[in-house]
Amino acid sequence: MNGKTIKLSSGQTSGQKQGVALWVEQGNGTAALGERMKLQAVSNRKLYIQIADQIRDQILAGAVEPGRQLPSERDLAVSLGVSRPTVREALIALEVAGFVEVRVGVGAFVRDQSKGSAALPEGHSPIEIMRVRRLLEPEAAALASQNISPEGTARMAEAMRRMQAETANNRWSSESDRMLHLTIAEGSGNTMLREVLDLLWNSRFEVVDTKFHEHLASMSAVRTHIMDDHARIVAGIVQGNAEAAREAMATHLDFVTASMLGAWD
Ligand SMILES: [Zn+2]
Repeated sequence: MNGKTIKLSSGQTSGQKQGVALWVEQGNGTAALGERMKLQAVSNRKLYIQIADQIRDQILAGAVEPGRQLPSERDLAVSLGVSRPTVREALIALEVAGFVEVRVGVGAFVRDQSKGSAALPEGHSPIEIMRVRRLLEPEAAALASQNISPEGTARMAEAMRRMQAETANNRWSSESDRMLHLTIAEGSGNTMLREVLDLLWNSRFEVVDTKFHEHLASMSAVRTHIMDDHARIVAGIVQGNAEAAREAMATHLDFVTASMLGAWD
C-alpha cells in the first residue's frame, strides 16, 4: 500500500477560500505607500479534523479496503502539506471514530467501514494542549515549592504511590497523573492558575487526547521515564527548591511533548 491510491489535497487550502493579497495604504507622507500583507483564509475547524475528514472521505469512497494499511504518516504529511504530528492527531481522531486501528510502531489500518461513525470527535488538539501546559505548569511547580500545604504534600505522595502500583501492574491510568499535576496546581496557591490548569486538564480528557496518551503509555520506556520525571518534580517541591521544581516540570513536559511528536509509526 502506498500514498498513490489516496487522493488528498493540502490541508492549508482545504477550506473554501484561497489566500488573498491586499494593499494597505499608510496615511502619512514619507511612510511607505503601501505595505503588502498576505492574508490566509483560515478555517475555524481544527487542522487535524480537516485532515481526518479528508482521509475518512477517502476510506468511505473505498480508496482503501478494510484491513489494508494506510500510507505512512510521513507520506500522508507530504501529500497533505501538513506536519506529521497533525497527521498523527488526525489518525487518532479516525481511530476514536472507528475508521482505523492505530498500531504503535506499525501504522494505521482501515477497519470495516460499518464500524465507523460519520461524525469525527471535535476536541482540542492534544499537541496544542501540551504547549499551553508547558507555558504554565513549570511556574505552578515553582510556586508549589513555596506554598504547598502538608495536605497537598500528602496528596502528591498518594498520587505517586498509585502511579507506582499501576506501573507495577502494567495498568496505566491518566487519573493518577491528573491527580499529581492538579495537586501541584492547587499547591501553587494561585486559584486562577489552578482554574486555568483545570480547564486544560478537562481538555486533556477529551477522547482524542485520551487515546493519544494511551498510545504513549503503551510504550514502557515512556512510562518509566515519566515516573522518574514525576519523582524529580515532587522532590523539588518537597525540598522547597523552586528552581529544581520548575526545571523538573519543564523537562517532564518537554519529554512528553517529544514523545508525542516522535516517530512511532
Ligand atoms: Zn505527568
